[in-house]
Amino acid sequence: MRSHYCGALGTSNIDETVTLCGWVDRRRDHGGVIFLDLRDRQGIVQVVFDPDTEEHFQRADRVRSEYVLRVSGRVRARSAGTVNPAMATGEIEVLGKELEVLNQAATPPFQMDEYTSVGEEVRLQYRYMDLRRQEMQERLMLRSRITTQVRNFLDGEGFLDIETPILTRATPEGARDYLVPSRTHPGQFFALPQSPQLFKQLLMVAGFDRYYQIAKCFRDEDLRADRQPEFTQIDIETAFLDEAAIMDVTERMIRELFRAVLQVDLPAFPHMPYAEAMERYGSDKPDLRIPLELVSVDDLMQQVDFKVFRGPADDPAGRVAALRVPGGATISRKEIDDYTSYVAIFGARGLAWIKVNDIDAGVAGLQSPILKFMPEEVVARMMQRLGAANGDIIFFGADRARVVNEALGALRIKVAQDLDMVADGWAPLWVVDFPMFEEEGEGGWTPLHHPFTAPACSVDELRANPGQALSRAYDMVLNGCELGGGSIRIFQRDMQEAVFRILEIDEAEAEEKFGFLLKALQYGAPPHGGLAFGLDRLVMLMTGATSIRDVIAFPKTQTAHCVLTDAPGDVSAQQLRELNIRLRQAREEAG
Ligand code: ASP
Repeated sequence: MRSHYCGALGTSNIDETVTLCGWVDRRRDHGGVIFLDLRDRQGIVQVVFDPDTEEHFQRADRVRSEYVLRVSGRVRARSAGTVNPAMATGEIEVLGKELEVLNQAATPPFQMDEYTSVGEEVRLQYRYMDLRRQEMQERLMLRSRITTQVRNFLDGEGFLDIETPILTRATPEGARDYLVPSRTHPGQFFALPQSPQLFKQLLMVAGFDRYYQIAKCFRDEDLRADRQPEFTQIDIETAFLDEAAIMDVTERMIRELFRAVLQVDLPAFPHMPYAEAMERYGSDKPDLRIPLELVSVDDLMQQVDFKVFRGPADDPAGRVAALRVPGGATISRKEIDDYTSYVAIFGARGLAWIKVNDIDAGVAGLQSPILKFMPEEVVARMMQRLGAANGDIIFFGADRARVVNEALGALRIKVAQDLDMVADGWAPLWVVDFPMFEEEGEGGWTPLHHPFTAPACSVDELRANPGQALSRAYDMVLNGCELGGGSIRIFQRDMQEAVFRILEIDEAEAEEKFGFLLKALQYGAPPHGGLAFGLDRLVMLMTGATSIRDVIAFPKTQTAHCVLTDAPGDVSAQQLRELNIRLRQAREEAG
């Protein structure tokens, strides 16, 4: 139907006769001449109809926004005064000869350039209109280029694209499962995969050696800002590669992706142990574009009487840390109050601070409500350790280590954003040497990754001291976002059973839930490992979008609702009966 895309036309097409198909972006009537901005996925071009082409001119006069047209005409240069440098096709226009209305359109629910004022619900309800906007078109086209590039790279490295089931058993990744009732097995349920984890491991047992899949994953979580109940992973697994080799191939994948799609050469990826990341940044996904760091002062605070600091300093599970912000002395009391409320979200019960007015004047040159609780000598040593300078503000966290890390880690990012201290560009790294387990409540353990991650020690060492054990896991972090994570897996049954026991999954439960995996490990499972990248987040970073919803064609809202189709929705009594399901509450009552 068409000879060219609207947005692809340029001066090289001058004098060509072209046929275009697209939507009316705008229609203007200028003294008997009609200007149509015609839009397709490649962009917009101006088409001019003058009354010489009587019949077509009349039609052009009647078209409205978002009508679908087929237009033929001749490309010509715009006269010097009418060139539009803000438009990619602004040096040319098409002198329209023929116009066919392929379809009409109702008045759009919102003006394309006023999408922000209508709110996201309306945008999602009319997603097909929202997606017509150039910005959204570009993002989804970039997403497609990214997946194509990834596929080409992995194909070149000998990876096989193999699909795994969506209707399956629970694969634990730390979230709730989405369940699907079975009609043929009354009272029983499938779980949608939280990831293809166990199937990709079975593919390694099966000898496929290098697998990838651009896979949908489903996690029923209370949704935070950048989460979706269904999302996409670039899922990878390999056999006979150790962690260095896996990090190498996937780092090259990301590097080549950035080069091909964004023409960006990523800097080196440093490797940082988890413990160091927590110590210096309070986070296992530090944003290295920010020059601020946490500094522990526990030893100094063991020498003060100030209970708020002394208690956590003496407690092995506590931490007292300082965050020095150069130039932060200009932060007002009101702003400090706002930061105090901010850190409270992470459980911090206050936010102590010291402003440095004149470092050479000793304590007299400092300003703070907490100085009176500290011996001068301790303050002096602390200032030295922090490298304090005039104009600084120093914030403190004192609590259980987890609270301090979360609170000061988040404050570090917020203050840096507020004071414009986030450097431009890309700061990737690998975080390595994660602990195997986190303590959960009274003496219980939960896996830091998932229960199939191999420890970096023997079965006996693991049993003797689970809290000290490190895992063979690695996360790739970019600009403070976890892009992907994975590990070398357990490939021997005794180790897998030992991990289950530490997680208080007894033999019967292990057999019931993961018997198929344990069995497979007995039939010549090779050493294997892999990782998965969050595709949505990767695309978000690469497109500069601020929400993953903006890089997903049909996302769900924060309450896991699809407003476009109004899903989830009611089902008929007949369907429920077939599934052997009786609702506990009649729907009318529930409503
Ligand atoms: N299955 C893991 C996840 O979804 C990734 C991996 O270990 O490969 O986070």
